[in-house]
Amino acid sequence: MTATTMDGKALAQKRQAALREIICQGVQRWGRPPGLAVIRIGDDPASAAYVSNKEKAAAATGIASFGGHFPADTRQETLLQVIGDLNVHPEVDGILVQLPVPPHLDPVALLTAIDPDKDVDGLHAANLGKLVRGEPGLQSCTPLGVMALLQEYGIPIAGHKAVVVGRSILVGKPLALMLLAADATVTIAHSRTGDLAAVTREADILVSAVGRPKMITSTMVKPGAVVIDVGINRLGSRLVGDVDYDQVAAVASHITPVPGGVGPMTVTMLLSNTVFSYQQRLGKA
Ligand code: NDP
Repeated sequence: MTATTMDGKALAQKRQAALREIICQGVQRWGRPPGLAVIRIGDDPASAAYVSNKEKAAAATGIASFGGHFPADTRQETLLQVIGDLNVHPEVDGILVQLPVPPHLDPVALLTAIDPDKDVDGLHAANLGKLVRGEPGLQSCTPLGVMALLQEYGIPIAGHKAVVVGRSILVGKPLALMLLAADATVTIAHSRTGDLAAVTREADILVSAVGRPKMITSTMVKPGAVVIDVGINRLGSRLVGDVDYDQVAAVASHITPVPGGVGPMTVTMLLSNTVFSYQQRLGKA
């Protein structure tokens, strides 16, 4: 079997084109585009690249940027004030703090300071709580991107077994909740899981969100399974996922590449969350 490649780049382009249309209509109706504020603190090169990607994609879609780049030694109080100002800024619909932040800062306090209605990363406790309760709200972008890929490729979820490897608040936990909401039978595996291969081989849908290159090999995958690779790892000058793509593509029915799989969808869902927040806010006005 050679797996179908789930093309995140193509789906991202399609979704972004649809967002552009919605934004054009929104500008006509409400007189302004959606606004996104990305707060970056310090000079972590990976964060700089992620923020630049987000801002470029936002601009290409017609979303205005209000972000700021702050020195690594910026005080918590200063950032809380910045977030407070953005919370009441009438043209800002989405706010995100790029993680990780320098060690002297408290990331949870920063995330908690964001107005939940502008929390386009879906990491505020109020939005995570809504996800747990199955209520509509802003949800984490990478898991949303995974769900969009599954939907686009017509992957049946209800009644099927999903295994998510990784339990972070950013990816693993919210994704497990989304799969559960879609009626999968969900297992979450992590670094303390005994006999990981036995667990992953049970999966009809296997998602790896760990950050270890080529950790998922063909012997860990049930023939015909759908394999989603969230991991991003740098191997020399190359980016690779958690999945040994060449091996696993020979046994899976569907597989996401790295790059070009989940990554472009993460950015797209951020834009989509920003547009959702914009419509919610201005639709109510
Ligand atoms: P974290 O480091 O927060 O979480 C990693 C998870 O993997 C933890 O739950 C950890 O378990 C688990 N883990 C570590 N080692 C093993 C192991 N040997 N076996 C099983 N589980 C293990 O990472 P994130 O969730 O933030 O990100 C995961 C990966 O996804 C990274 O490569 C990151 O770069 C990438 N990523 C990609 C995005 C995209 O857009 N494509 C977006 C966000 C992240 P434990 O809890 O027990 O420590």
